[in-house]
Amino acid sequence: GAEIVLEDVTKSYPNQKAAAVDHVSLTIPAGEVVVLVGPSGCGKTTTMRMINRLIEPTSGRITIGGKDALSIDPNELRRTIGYSIQQAGLFPHMTIAQNVGMVPGLIGWNKKKISDRTDEMLDLVGLDPGQYRERYPRQLSGGQQQRVGVARALAADPPVLLMDEPFGAVDPITRGLLQDELMRLQAELGKTIVFVTHDFDEAVKLGDRIAVLGNQSRILQYDTPEAVLAN
Ligand code: ADP
Ligand code: ADP
Repeated sequence: GAEIVLEDVTKSYPNQKAAAVDHVSLTIPAGEVVVLVGPSGCGKTTTMRMINRLIEPTSGRITIGGKDALSIDPNELRRTIGYSIQQAGLFPHMTIAQNVGMVPGLIGWNKKKISDRTDEMLDLVGLDPGQYRERYPRQLSGGQQQRVGVARALAADPPVLLMDEPFGAVDPITRGLLQDELMRLQAELGKTIVFVTHDFDEAVKLGDRIAVLGNQSRILQYDTPEAVLAN
């Protein structure tokens, strides 16, 4: 994985009184799982989108593996970060296989390797490739679409995973299996994982550290799950 550092990062959207993220500094160590928790509207998604450079901070700096996020070219960013979101964000006009194989295709993997990897990733999220490869997103349930979103984020084997409530619509049994899978990816492959959830049990299970954000869009506490629970 790669270390991610936020230095005094603020994001203000136009026509909004309060900042969405207000002077946040946070070091996410390489190879750890850091979970962001906090009330709706405290800036969790905005933080994730800034790390993935979908939006720019108003002020402050973000580095990934020591490089300023704004200086990383789009191709390198694609290889570095896998991103999965609650709404899954699948391309409706593309099949499940095309969605999962998109980033590997963009970074130049050959067809056979993409196809094998797509099947492997669908298996990993509990979707039978034979049954689902050629379907379109609208033919899947919300939970199944989320699982495809996770498969897509993992497909190119990026060192960093940004996961924004990736399992919200997934049934509890499958969710438990996917949580275990993420922990395996961290333990065996050293992925750096930033994970957003509303579910405190999930935060405690997955997190090496938990960042608790408050209504003021600032970090209230950043510590181990044990220390956060004790507080
Ligand atoms: P969370 O993920 O913790 O629920 P968000 O990052 O989505 O929080 O939102 C933080 C704040 O920024 C909220 O007040 C939200 O209304 C506001 N916000 C989010 N996205 C936009 C946007 N595109 N334009 C204006 N305000 C936004
Ligand atoms: P564009 O620049 O036209 O948005 P991209 O190919 O950069 O096209 O990304 C298109 C969409 O693909 C993004 O909106 C995002 O949802 C998804 N995406 C991009 N990079 C990744 C990634 N590393 N992992 C998973 N999904 C990604």
